[in-house]
Amino acid sequence: MTWSFPIGHLFGSELRVHATFFLLLAWIGAASWITGGPVAAAINVVFVLALFACVVAHEFGHALMARRFGIATPDITLLPIGGLARLDRMPEKPGQEIAVALAGPAVNVVIWAVLVTLGAQAELTSLAQLGEGGATAFWGNLAAINLFLVLFNMIPAFPMDGGRVFRAALSYGMGRVAATRLAARSGQALAFVFGFLGLTWGNPLLVLIAIFIFVAAGAESADVSLRDTARHLRARDAMIIHFETLRPSDTLQVASNAVIRTTQHEFPVVDAGGGLRGFLTRNALFAALAAEGSRMRPVAEAMTEGIPSVPLAAPLDAALDALQDSGAPAVAVSEPSGRMVGYITRENIGELMVISGRERRM
Ligand SMILES: [Zn+2]
Repeated sequence: MTWSFPIGHLFGSELRVHATFFLLLAWIGAASWITGGPVAAAINVVFVLALFACVVAHEFGHALMARRFGIATPDITLLPIGGLARLDRMPEKPGQEIAVALAGPAVNVVIWAVLVTLGAQAELTSLAQLGEGGATAFWGNLAAINLFLVLFNMIPAFPMDGGRVFRAALSYGMGRVAATRLAARSGQALAFVFGFLGLTWGNPLLVLIAIFIFVAAGAESADVSLRDTARHLRARDAMIIHFETLRPSDTLQVASNAVIRTTQHEFPVVDAGGGLRGFLTRNALFAALAAEGSRMRPVAEAMTEGIPSVPLAAPLDAALDALQDSGAPAVAVSEPSGRMVGYITRENIGELMVISGRERRM
């Protein structure tokens, strides 16, 4: 994610903060300084930091549970609207998805329970009154907000955690594609209700949340239809068959010429026997060229190895899965003999989706 930068590592995941988060802190600090003076400003800023520590703990709940199922969690990003734990892939078994989704809110339940056990009274006051209320108001608000985080995240609509639980529960009975579509639709319906309430009550935050849910649910829905279409197409329908290749021993200079000569963004690296050794992407080439005296280095040093391969007749969603699981720039399409006859990238799957989407509409 652009505009976010790392602030450290925790439990093996990189913790990143979005630049706008500091804008939020500065705004809260300035607003409470004007109304309540420097002490109120300090209390409010510390409170927001404590609140976001709870959000980070929530995201680590998801991340650590995902890791138990062998899913890598490279980073967690803190945004003004909450946190975002990036999982390498989504758990496919419904039981695992439910466990990962519930682990986040469960952390907030624990925090709430600990605060209440220690004597906090879960009570919401406005941020403006926080400065006057002392420690009682501070911990009471933090307990209340953790409870709110649980309720908000358990709303049974995408992209909330509750939506994932809902989808996973539905997918026991109706298959993952239909379940996702239903969960995404219910998310959009809920966004309409939130948007309507936000407008009638004059609550801009609720309108913002409604827009966020609507867009995220739509994206999830689009991803499902993409997969649905992909299921009915084969690898051979989407593959690129006109392309130039490079040899592992070709220099980066030769590769640069190929980038200029063609419109390709990635080049299969093929040995003399016709076997695929890897892919050289334009970005990897540019990165390698940045080092001094690298023009005469062989392509083999800059290429991505371990390119997945699917047979010609494989369903296209198998190619999508292979792209997603491997993180490779392309997936090779091979004849039964093992020879590569074409390759598929995310970009040309996207083009295919646009075209087949148009056909259905006509
Ligand atoms: Zn969550």
